[in-house]
Amino acid sequence: MNQHDQIDEIQAELIQKIQNRKSELGKKLLVLTHHYQRKEIVALGDYKGDSFTLSKKSTEDVNVTYIIFCGVHFMAESAAILAKPHQIVQIPDMEAGCWMADMLDHVQLSRAWEDVTNIIGLDQILPVVYVNSDAYIKAFCGHHGGLTCTSSNAGNAFEWCLERASKIFFFPDQHLGRNTALSIGIPEEKIIVWNPEKPLGGNTKDSIQNAKIILWHGYCLVHTRFKIAHIEQVRKNNKDVKVVVHPECEKEVVQAADAVGSTGFIEKYVKQAPVGSTIAIGTEINFINRLGLENPEKKILPLHHSLCPNMYKINLENLLKTIENVGVMNVITIPDDIKKNAKTALEKMLLL
Ligand code: SF4
Repeated sequence: MNQHDQIDEIQAELIQKIQNRKSELGKKLLVLTHHYQRKEIVALGDYKGDSFTLSKKSTEDVNVTYIIFCGVHFMAESAAILAKPHQIVQIPDMEAGCWMADMLDHVQLSRAWEDVTNIIGLDQILPVVYVNSDAYIKAFCGHHGGLTCTSSNAGNAFEWCLERASKIFFFPDQHLGRNTALSIGIPEEKIIVWNPEKPLGGNTKDSIQNAKIILWHGYCLVHTRFKIAHIEQVRKNNKDVKVVVHPECEKEVVQAADAVGSTGFIEKYVKQAPVGSTIAIGTEINFINRLGLENPEKKILPLHHSLCPNMYKINLENLLKTIENVGVMNVITIPDDIKKNAKTALEKMLLL
């Protein structure tokens, strides 16, 4: 038996054990898998999707007692915030975090909020937080009258806020924030970036007063790897190629692409493309590879190879361990007061 066959055999055994345990637990267990998970993990899930779809799924079935979230920590946290009191949420690897979410902490945010509201007044601004953030940040947002958003509903969240206030403080992803603001017609000169290392975030009182959108300076290292040069190269090598990218990419990349949207949007875009199409995609590589396997009659290309190591931390071994220790291992817990305010922000988003 060669090394490949041995790996296949080990994987098959792990998959069988996970499936057996899933059958034993029946409807009591729900396994959710994000689009960026490895293909063998997605195949074992009850639902796959983007974070918005999965947030909704996690709240729907009251018969479920155990939710195992195959994704990164903030996603499992959102499920735990929205879970019914009898439901327990677990993640196969507690260390599966998110670089972007780590670019913002509660103390920095409170300071920035105070600086901004001292200049413009509390009633002029609402916070919007990308779900890629920890529960404390979501709670801050809920407490201050704002809401969460995902990449599939950020435009709606911005419009919701601008009907109620004249400015938005968006965190932590500056690229999603900028791309969203531009897509709903806010001019570039009304958008500023807040760098917490600098006094007034690197802005002046005038620029803060003049701004409509203030963006935290965070970004996703997976999506900022895509550059204009990759688009030029793929267009040069592939006649009639369509380029679709995620809105966490830089503005220049988004503007040069043929389409932009969340992972849910990208999945639909590929599915609906005519047979024989060539599509180059700018997002996480595991998702692109899976889209290629699911759409063999189309040519699916990565714009560039970019993997999220945190998403990749979930594997068959730690999923099996979690499922064997259901309700006990790697349980997501959140203090009640934080949960309450974070839930307010998440529930507003689900009503959009
Ligand atoms: S792809 Fe980017 S935003 Fe998504 S989990 Fe990975 S680091 Fe975070």
